[in-house]
Amino acid sequence: MTSATPLPLYAIGLGSNRRHARHGDPRQVLLAALSALESDDIEPMDVSPIIASDPIGPSRRRYANAVALVASPLSPPEMLERLHEVESAFGRRTGQRWSARTLDLDILLWSGGVWSEAGLTIPHPAMQQRAFVLGPLRAIAPDWRHPLSARTVRQLAARLIRPKPVDPNAEAH
Ligand code: AMP
Repeated sequence: MTSATPLPLYAIGLGSNRRHARHGDPRQVLLAALSALESDDIEPMDVSPIIASDPIGPSRRRYANAVALVASPLSPPEMLERLHEVESAFGRRTGQRWSARTLDLDILLWSGGVWSEAGLTIPHPAMQQRAFVLGPLRAIAPDWRHPLSARTVRQLAARLIRPKPVDPNAEAH
């Protein structure tokens, strides 16, 4: 039987900057995480190339980052719970914001649009400032429109990467 209504889509951000004893280097951690996510109610539809990006904050390890599109009937809180289960299975240490982390999974976008509650905000509030999110996302979903800014992923990526024009009136600090 085929369903008349397509399943909701999620864009999931994956990041790792630590080796995993069994899975290997951060790239392999991301591939293993994607397999771990796949289940009866989470179907991977597409995955971006894996990129290497510079660390944020004090950690000096480079990150491997990718974005996956998954189809799922799960609600956003159910999806977040699933992501946390997979992160825990990979040994993520919580409570250490910028430390080395084996696996970080974020909900970036959801085809249902906007979700806002304590502990879960969709679209992910930082995605518009992050080249390591917008670059991979553009590779697989360039026309997805951010529901708050109404800009497509392609436009958001172009805005982030384009050099800012010099403002002759700006004060030099
Ligand atoms: P971080 O350590 O920066 O990855 O933050 C993780 C926490 O951010 C989680 O415990 C979530 O409760 C919260 N959070 C809020 N919005 C999101 C989102 N869209 N995707 C993933 N985590 C989120």
